Amino acid sequence: MRRLSSRKTIYEFSPDNEPAYKVNQGESVIVETQDCFSGMVKNPKKLFEDVAMGDVNPATGPINVEGLVAGDTLCVSIDRIKCGQLGIMMCSPNVGFLSDDVRKSRTKVLKIHGDKATFSPGLEIDLRPHIGVLGVSPSKGKRPTFHPGDHGGNMDTVEVAAGSKVYLPTFVDGAMVAMGDLHAAMGDGEISGTGVEVSGEVTVRFTRSEEIQTARPLIETRTQWITYAAAKTLEEASRCASSDLVRLISSRSGMDFEEAYMLASAVADLKISQVVDPLVAARMSISKRYL
Ligand code: CA
Ligand code: CA
Repeated sequence: MRRLSSRKTIYEFSPDNEPAYKVNQGESVIVETQDCFSGMVKNPKKLFEDVAMGDVNPATGPINVEGLVAGDTLCVSIDRIKCGQLGIMMCSPNVGFLSDDVRKSRTKVLKIHGDKATFSPGLEIDLRPHIGVLGVSPSKGKRPTFHPGDHGGNMDTVEVAAGSKVYLPTFVDGAMVAMGDLHAAMGDGEISGTGVEVSGEVTVRFTRSEEIQTARPLIETRTQWITYAAAKTLEEASRCASSDLVRLISSRSGMDFEEAYMLASAVADLKISQVVDPLVAARMSISKRYL
């Protein structure tokens, strides 16, 4: 299987980027990714303030997907995520949801072994590996890789995981996908501003979706459909994700808006993805058995 090296990265999604790699539709490739600190944090002495924002969230790519044209829907099938052996976490008065309460910046290095990580002596936490940054080029302008948006980007959503498909709108020919910022684990919200940040490898396939049309990232897990939206406020993001979910129910089931709205209110879950990025993000999920 072809490996796409993490030596080729971007820090901004932009139509001006040259493709680093070209892949065929349906070709299974291994994408190697650096951790979100570009590998520069190896011990607890390196604090958030020591890392330049320009070095945050290297995303491997851009990957030109053969045959995709602007306006197509890209389907990213995530087959496997392999995490590196060291996980980095940080908190600082300069980042995170409760930053006012942080008196002193701290960095934590967690050893990852099997499906666990050692948070502190005697305290093992469960891994929940997922991709933090997965996105495509916008049609114009530059989107730093620490921003989420309609193009994906810094999605920080736990279901962007092995076994899931992520559908993204494409704005340029070839989609120009990039990914990075793997998390070995993260709770909804990512409140301190970091997950368990790791380097790693992602086995993926890229195809054009014939069935799905979407203006924003849409996630299909083995059991659920999940709409996703990023905005300036959680209220705005929540409304957008909810509205997309109700419309998804309508389009797949033929229900009118009111019927789909009440079904969503009965069985779908509105959740927070993260509250710490330049735009915050919410998502809404419904079991596939209803659609
Ligand atoms: Ca992130
Ligand atoms: Ca991260």
